[in-house]
Amino acid sequence: MSTHFCDSAVVTCIDFRFQNYIDEWIKANLKGKSFDRISVAGSSKDLDFILSQIAISVRLHEIKKVVIIHHEDCGAYGNESTEKRHSDDLQLTKTKIMAKHSHLSIDLYYLLLDGTFKKIS
Ligand SMILES: [Zn+2]
Repeated sequence: MSTHFCDSAVVTCIDFRFQNYIDEWIKANLKGKSFDRISVAGSSKDLDFILSQIAISVRLHEIKKVVIIHHEDCGAYGNESTEKRHSDDLQLTKTKIMAKHSHLSIDLYYLLLDGTFKKIS
């Protein structure tokens, strides 16, 4: 049995250029809430791995929300790092997570190099 819980899981790329933006966004938007941070090159690009991490976060910490952040100019995507591709992959990730964990609320973002968070719906 788990004895410690948190509100959310935040899925991000490892890219150092975006970490300050992400930290500031978390401070402003998750206001003091606890979260598991899942940081992998390409964010949710390796979908099976991300699904396994979300499952652990659900099981151990009973999270209620998942935030997935992809970003502009992602090296893990190389030449395929277009907004359309990231948007498609984000939506697929949401669909796959919802299929297993329908109680979760899931927010998707595409983060630009200038720090702008674009909500993907
Ligand atoms: Zn990246």
